[in-house]
Amino acid sequence: MNDFTGKNILILGGSRGIGAAIVHRFAAGGGGVAFTYAGSRDAAEALAAETGAEAIRTDSADRDALIATIAGRGALDVIVINAGTLVLGDPLTLDPDDIDRMIDINVRAPYHAAVEAARHMNANGRIIVIGSVNGDRMPFAGGAAYALTKAAMQGMVRGLARDFGDRGITVNSIQPGPTDSEMNPAEGPMAATMHGFMAIKRHARPQEIAELAAYIAGPNGAMITGSMQTIDGGFGA
Ligand code: NDP
Repeated sequence: MNDFTGKNILILGGSRGIGAAIVHRFAAGGGGVAFTYAGSRDAAEALAAETGAEAIRTDSADRDALIATIAGRGALDVIVINAGTLVLGDPLTLDPDDIDRMIDINVRAPYHAAVEAARHMNANGRIIVIGSVNGDRMPFAGGAAYALTKAAMQGMVRGLARDFGDRGITVNSIQPGPTDSEMNPAEGPMAATMHGFMAIKRHARPQEIAELAAYIAGPNGAMITGSMQTIDGGFGA
């Protein structure tokens, strides 16, 4: 297990699902971990009590609040930008406000968060965004706007890796495929359809995504930058 003792780590969107697994993983590695949440106060407080991590209520859609929260953490070693939402449906009938809120959380927030983190970050820091294999492949109808948001992250990662590389800061995206969470339950109505696209026909466990985050953030990750690390059971193959 990578040792994150003495590291200042912030997870955006850590109260549930993949984000909570990442909080567990870095806290178990000895890191000083804080995480944000928006709506799930009870889950956030329970996770904080269990792991010793600090829970901070900050809606990623509120740009100024998000930037203030990141600036308030000082010199970070690791930021994982996990907070995200999923809006699926017929583009002709979806509410445009719902689409714009998803773009705020999945695109605008990760950009401003990554830049603000880098402003204060220690040398050799790590910026990790949680993208999606849907940034590469959207094999069913109704996911165009979500795919747009995750594809947008790819351009950001490639560009920011070059902006911050001279300080040893790496910028990467982890691109999960179907992963068991409230957003995408392993027993949900879409599960069989999704498994049909996969070589390994099951949802990933959030802990499997967290282990990849720990690897990228650890000492062996120094040369991984500007990359999309897909972990999807072959969904995109
Ligand atoms: P969940 O819906 O289970 O959890 C989402 C987490 O993000 C919660 O902790 C939630 O906090 C937080 N969050 C959502 N909106 C905001 C916001 N506006 N401000 C702050 N925090 C917020 O999702 P997953 O764990 O499944 O997904 C996590 C990430 O992984 C997302 O970016 C998603 O797109 C991506 N992903 C997921 C896949 C999957 O199959 N599950 C596949 C590929 C990518 P709270 O409840 O407190 O608001």
